[in-house]
Amino acid sequence: MKLHDQHVHSMYSVDSTEQLESYVQKAIELGCSYVVTTEHFDLDMVEGQVDWTVDFARLKQEQQQLRLQYPQISFLLGIEVGYRKGHIDQIHAQINSESYDVVNLSIHENDDADFYWPKYFKQYGIHTLLTAYFDEMIEATSHFTNYNVLSHIDYAFKTAYLMDKTLNISTYEDQIKQVYQNLIAYGKALEINTKVQEAIDDDQHTLYLLRLYQQVGGKRLTLSSDAHSVERYESSFPHYMRLIQSCGFDHLVYYIERKEYQYPINQEDL
Ligand SMILES: [Zn+2]
Ligand SMILES: [Zn+2]
Repeated sequence: MKLHDQHVHSMYSVDSTEQLESYVQKAIELGCSYVVTTEHFDLDMVEGQVDWTVDFARLKQEQQQLRLQYPQISFLLGIEVGYRKGHIDQIHAQINSESYDVVNLSIHENDDADFYWPKYFKQYGIHTLLTAYFDEMIEATSHFTNYNVLSHIDYAFKTAYLMDKTLNISTYEDQIKQVYQNLIAYGKALEINTKVQEAIDDDQHTLYLLRLYQQVGGKRLTLSSDAHSVERYESSFPHYMRLIQSCGFDHLVYYIERKEYQYPINQEDL
């Protein structure tokens, strides 16, 4: 069995137009047994005060049809939840309303800024906003535990780094360590997100995050593409699997019905 991608968006996310079936065909081509998409659920977004929600009824209906067409694939249900401290009850309600297999937790925004857009870094200052970003992540991982995987820990850093290439994520080491300690304490996994790694394009950055995680005793890792189109499904997996292995990790984890399974990193994955 080949490991499936656990952070993928299809047309059920507001910002993707990809067909679910394209991912199924790609997964079959690669030899995966499972297909999961983790569609965006982001409430009260700073940009436009809109909610990004998902029509899970329609998504499950399509999965049901695809099951008949592709009986060799097990279809899983996932979600990527954007943490917002003012909307915790709604977030819990959404997570508890479906039988999810995997819940990815993301820090896309706080009350004042969307960490994707450079304009907020210009408005507040890069260092101030990165500090606020990691503070939000510490607060989320300290108080919220209804998830499996912390997605793209370096999401805001990516935007900042593309604005100023002299930045180094190690400036935020104390905060990152606190996040890691929370993940370990609550048994959550850290995601290496290849979309962010490809954008930053510096193996030393990725190795820094991995070594620090190893140093503080982190063991649970996922590797995911954050694909919004099928071309990026499992993008750069062999390269980042090699980096992960070089830091002493011999397996990744995946989730079914929110239960954790181990995937040993094989020679064929590298
Ligand atoms: Zn995200
Ligand atoms: Zn995503």
